[in-house]
This record gives sequence, C-alpha cells and structure tokens, in this order.
Amino acid sequence: MTVTKLFERELGEYFEDIWKCIRCGFCNSVCPTSNTSQSYLASLTSRGRIILLQAYFQDLLSKSLDHEKIQELMEYCFGCRRCLEVCPPGVRIPNLIWRVKKLNRRQGFLKKIIFTNFGRMEKLFSNFPSLSNLFLHSYIGKTLLEATIGVSKNIDFPSFNRSLEKWINNKRKPANYRGRLAYFIDVFTNYHEVALGREVVELVEKLGYLVTAPPQKEAGTLLLEEGLIDEAYKVAKENVESLYESVRNGAKIITSSPAAYLALKKDYPELLGDTKSRIVSENTLDIIELLLKEYENGVIDFDNVLENQLVYHHSCFTKASGLTKNIKHILESSGYRLKEIDKCCGIGGIWGLNKKHYNLSIEIGSNLFNELNRISLPVASQSETCRIQIKNNTLVEVKHPLLFVKNRLKIDKSRLSSFT
Ligand code: SF4
Ligand code: SF4
Repeated sequence: MTVTKLFERELGEYFEDIWKCIRCGFCNSVCPTSNTSQSYLASLTSRGRIILLQAYFQDLLSKSLDHEKIQELMEYCFGCRRCLEVCPPGVRIPNLIWRVKKLNRRQGFLKKIIFTNFGRMEKLFSNFPSLSNLFLHSYIGKTLLEATIGVSKNIDFPSFNRSLEKWINNKRKPANYRGRLAYFIDVFTNYHEVALGREVVELVEKLGYLVTAPPQKEAGTLLLEEGLIDEAYKVAKENVESLYESVRNGAKIITSSPAAYLALKKDYPELLGDTKSRIVSENTLDIIELLLKEYENGVIDFDNVLENQLVYHHSCFTKASGLTKNIKHILESSGYRLKEIDKCCGIGGIWGLNKKHYNLSIEIGSNLFNELNRISLPVASQSETCRIQIKNNTLVEVKHPLLFVKNRLKIDKSRLSSFT
C-alpha cells in the first residue's frame, strides 16, 4: 500500500474534513501557532496545514515536501482546539492532525514507550516524591528528560507529591451522605498539585457527598497529541469501564481539570462511540458546575463582603470544554470583578516544555505575560499547564478558580437533604 493510501485509511472519517475547508482563514485568527514570527510561512498556520494536506492528497507537492516534512509541519499544531469554535464548515483540525501524526515514522521507539507508560511512571515517581524530585531537578535528571521526551532543560519538571488517589481511598468515609461522587483526577492533580485535589474533596464532603477515587488511568490527552491514537483508545476504554461501574452504582463523576473533563465529555465518546462512554459523559460534571448547581438551589451562598478585582484567564481547554460561562458566573457571584484576558499562554499541554518548541512557546505567551505583569492582579486559570506557564513567566499569583471562591462560601446545612 502506498504511503498516501495508508494515510487516507488512517484518517478514516476525518479524511472528508480535508475537503470541507473553504480557505476562509478564520482558524488563523485564533490559532496561537499561526500568529508568530514564523507564520509568514503559509504551512505554519492552521489553514496552511489543511491546504498542505489537500495538496498532498491531490499529488501536487514537489518531491522536497515529502511525508517527513509534512510531519514536521504538523508538529506546530498543539491541539488547543481554539479553531474548532470558529471554522464555518466544521473542519476538525486537531482530530485530523492527531491521525496524521500517528503515521510519523520518525517517532522514536523510546519516546513512544515513555508516552504510552506516562501514567504508570508518574504513579511510580509519586511513591517516592523526595527522591524523584531530587533526581528530576538534578542535572542528570534534566539531561535524561531532554534526551528521552524532549523536555527542555530550562524547565523545572513539576514536583511530585504522594498520590491524591491513595489519600482519598485511605480517608475515613462519612457514615451519612446525600450523594456519591467518583473523582476522575488526571495525572497533574493526582501526583503534583495534590493540595488542589484535597481542597476539592474536603469541600464536597462538607456539602454532604461521599467521594471515591475509582481505579483510573491518565486522561490520555498527551497520547492524542502525540498521535498515539490506539494507545489513547485503550486508556479511554479502561477509564470508561471503571467510571461506568461507578455511575451504575449511583455516583456522578466529578473533575477539576479541563483536560479530564474534555476527555470524558467529548474525547472518549468520539473515540469509543459506545453507550458506556455516552453514559459516563452525561454523568460527568466539573467541580465548578457542581458548585453552581448548589448555589442555584440555595445550598451555598457567598460572603459578599469584599469586591476584589481578579484576572480571569481564558485557557484553551476551558474554552473548548464550554465551562467558561459557569466559571465566570461563580467567580462573579462570589464578589469578584473580572478583567478577562483571552490570550494563549503557549504551553499547549506539554508542547511548550519541549526543547524544540520552547522559544516559540514563550513567544506565543509573551503578550499574555506582559499584560499580566502590567495589570499585576491575581489570576484565575482553570488549566493546570497554563498555571505552570504563567507561574514560570510572570510575577503574578495564579490559582484554580475554586481556590478564589472557597473561603467566601457559606453552606446552608438545612438544605443538605437531597442529591443535586
Ligand atoms: S488546535 Fe490549536 S494549534 Fe492546532 S490548528 Fe487549531 S488553533 Fe491551531
Ligand atoms: S476556518 Fe475552517 S474552512 Fe476556514 S481556513 Fe480554517 S479549516 Fe479552512
């Protein structure tokens, strides 16, 4: 089979998307990697990538632009999904590009093994946090990270903590509760930002819920972005099987990470296309959605004593998940006046941590960093990787939106009677 035919087969239903493109360029206006000093090269824009694929399948490319070169150009899509919102005919650019990346013959064997076992390795490192942190922050550790998965030596890999999943499962459970919640955590909160996860659990317990952490793997977003579609499918299947059992036992699924939410709400049903993933999706809610429901039902209210100004950062994944309106509503209801900034930080999951992309990632994020430093207000951003990038490149305080509202929240205990 020719490479072109193999390509076409792998793209499956997404192959048709290539021909839907009307070359309007709307995607270029929102795509973070299409607005850089390199964007004058047409194929380095989102529209350029689609036009390149059209030319490839029409056999219009010169010999110099072969399969390998196409793969190199596709790397400039980091899967932020901003283009999905604006494309008139609905070309699913990131989904298409993940499948093109799947055919990347240069993808190193070691890199593939590491990404496929990323969740397992994170779990292992979190069992020995002090040792892991010492190693990963050392010269040898950084050199190894750069040589294997390409993480730039300029980056301090986020520190490990003991797993949130274990902490939840070892925790004493309340005897009475008004509902059950199964927490789908994803790696960053599970092994790094564990304090945030504990805040989530403690808050929902105060609201009368029993929280469990059913067996789970990472959300798999990284696998998709690396074009490891079959591996992402397996992870999705395992997570859905486990979470479906929780739903069958009467639990709702809760998330606090936009990547985890997007995986359950959109990616898994799209990948698996089965009833279980649809049921899991319908029973998933983000912690902010839960708070908003409780607020609307009068279970919680806010101490509206202070009116503070806060920057609300629109992270790409929060936009793609459709949670923005709810997050803004809950922040405003708790007394914050929001200054909104809709600029990409350039990290794109772990794309910007890669040595190859590091400088471009900082270039993409620089408008945001300058504006945040100039405004100099605390920042609420729902995405964990955006928070890393903002912390590393500005002087401002940045936190998950929940941490801004939790101290202003009052619970009406008389209303803790029924499941929300
Ligand atoms: S997913 Fe993001 S990076 Fe990729 S083409 Fe769309 S807007 Fe650009
Ligand atoms: S927005 Fe959609 S139709 Fe317009 S150029 Fe981009 S991919 Fe093509």
